Parts: sequence; structure tokens; C-alpha cells
Amino acid sequence: MNTESLNGPRRLRPPTTADAAYWWDGLEQRELRIQRCAGCRTLRHPFQVRCTSCGSLEWDWQVAVGDGRLHSFVIYHEPILADTIYPYTVALVELAEGTRVIAPLLPNDGVGIQVGDAVRLIWYDDNDGPVWPVFVVEAGS
Ligand SMILES: [Zn+2]
Repeated sequence: MNTESLNGPRRLRPPTTADAAYWWDGLEQRELRIQRCAGCRTLRHPFQVRCTSCGSLEWDWQVAVGDGRLHSFVIYHEPILADTIYPYTVALVELAEGTRVIAPLLPNDGVGIQVGDAVRLIWYDDNDGPVWPVFVVEAGS
């Protein structure tokens, strides 16, 4: 898949807390890490201090396999930012593990995609910035 259409302003790793470092460290390892309760094994994303199922403060993470379904998406046409290619699509993906993540989606013009389409994870490396998760629609989904 050609990810050249994702070229745009250099994406910076935002400031993070020690609690969210697992997510950003995972991206650097090309791992989509999903927080998991150490008490009841419930997955959750984004990061939460306490499990909403059992109340445990203990947690680790599970690496998502990268398969999922398109739960929702939005196609951005504005606001116009310098060096950004429009339109581009941002997806809410329901991962095979059952949690949802937000990430860019290809094709970036959104043509032909539908809620429920099968998607898979690829990685976008903008060379001097962080590695980002991107989803692509599976052919024939
Ligand atoms: Zn729990």
C-alpha cells in the first residue's frame, strides 16, 4: 500500500505521562498495545487508571493483531493546513480484540468505503518522526 498520500507536516510525539508511555513505546516497536486489566483481563483503550469492570489498579497490555472493522469514519476537507493533502480520512476501528482505536484510514479520499468494512493495520514511518498506525480497507470487504 502506498502511504505517500499521508505525507504532510511532521507529526510529533505529544507529551506523555508515565502511564501512557506503553502506548507510545509500542508504536516505536510497531506494536498496537491495548491496555489490559491484570485482575479481570478486560481490555480498554484509551488509557484508564482504574478498571471499570473490577476496579483493579493493576494492568499490563496486549498487542493487537491489527485486524478490525470500520466502526465509523470522517473525511476531512477543512480546515486547510499547510502541507497537508486533502481530503483525508480518519477512522474509528473496532479491533478484533473488541476495543476501538482512532487512526488515519486509506484510501484517504474515502471513496468506496463503508461502515463495517474489514480493515487491517499498517505502519506509517515519516522518517524523522514517530511511527504511526494507519488502517487500510481490505479488498472485497
Ligand atoms: Zn478488571
